[in-house]
Amino acid sequence: MAYKFATKAIHAGQQSDPTTGAVMTPIYQTSTYQQASPGEHKGYEYSRGTNPTRKALEDCLAALENGQHGLAFSSGMAATDCVLRLLKPGDEVVTGDDLYGGSYRIFTKVYEAYGITFKFVNTSDADAVREAITDKTKLIWVETPTNPTLKIADVAAIGQVAKDKKVLYVVDNTFASPYLQNPLDLGADIVMHSATKYINGHSDVVMGALVMNSDELYKQLFFFYNAVGGTPGPQDSFLALRGIKTLHLRMEAHCANGRKVAEYLRNHPKVEKIYWPGFEDHPGHDIAKKQMRDFGGMISIVLKGADLKETFRISSQFKVFTLAESLGGVESLINHPATMTHGSIPKEIREKVGVVDNLIRISVGIEDADDLIADLEQALV
Ligand SMILES: *Cc1c(COP(=O)(O)O)cnc(C)c1O
Repeated sequence: MAYKFATKAIHAGQQSDPTTGAVMTPIYQTSTYQQASPGEHKGYEYSRGTNPTRKALEDCLAALENGQHGLAFSSGMAATDCVLRLLKPGDEVVTGDDLYGGSYRIFTKVYEAYGITFKFVNTSDADAVREAITDKTKLIWVETPTNPTLKIADVAAIGQVAKDKKVLYVVDNTFASPYLQNPLDLGADIVMHSATKYINGHSDVVMGALVMNSDELYKQLFFFYNAVGGTPGPQDSFLALRGIKTLHLRMEAHCANGRKVAEYLRNHPKVEKIYWPGFEDHPGHDIAKKQMRDFGGMISIVLKGADLKETFRISSQFKVFTLAESLGGVESLINHPATMTHGSIPKEIREKVGVVDNLIRISVGIEDADDLIADLEQALV
């Protein structure tokens, strides 16, 4: 039976506990499982590889992304690392020029040392992706909307490139969440999430996820997941499962508040530039409209005439918004990418894609929009 999103968010992967009838999936706080005789067990041997609380979460994540298999990791970066382990020295990766700082860091500072080459292109242009592919290209890694300038990649158009060129295609769907966008339906082979963000949604867990359809790919990824061991414990898996139960409600509220805040900021005299894909004049608006159900609660602004010092001063004046890394929680956050989330990207590279010293990224939470706007009003002076 194909249930709709809200039903899947609450029930997928979860049954009442067979021993007690507990309605909520128990936290199976155990590292190991009894075997009747060597190798004879109930499907669980050791919790690095499998744990029932984590399995419920993985099945739920798979259902939300319309995929067959889910894998949960101890962070988004551990999930990314698991995918990169599919590569061999000499392989090439084509990826975006505006990426989460940690993704850029693991590509250039960890995997380049193992002989893997990364090409950074403008993924808003599917032809640029096509042109960058050589016979050594094994992977296309796309983030959309991008962090922090909210550029949009056409997931289906790049899916066609990946299919034509027979290259594995991964989409980092963290910014959209599975409620707004489902890349597997548009031709991606793997969806990656930092579940730390919208999926868990309460800023109390660090977690990552991969979802895929192919049994073969699942087998390969599961091997590295278990062999390397970056898997989350049962307590965090439980919290993420609980967070997911309101994902649809939270995303509706993030999108509604995002729109109000974006519209307020668009005409603000202190705002030189605003990035939000919901605006018709955003260069990716039409594609966003086609592939996303709504435009989300992530907004970036460039402060008019502000140097680093002035940007820092304004960043410290908020009372409802909290100045912090991360995004996607129920509480509103502001972030200074140049020195915080994207500090690991060299200045000349980040400035080329618009991550300038006076850019502020806003994760619009689900507080009352009037209070958020009043806070912006008092801070942007
Ligand atoms: C946060 C983030 C990551 C990394 O995830 P962690 O859970 O922090 O390890 C990857 N991609 C994007 C787009 C992110 O925002």
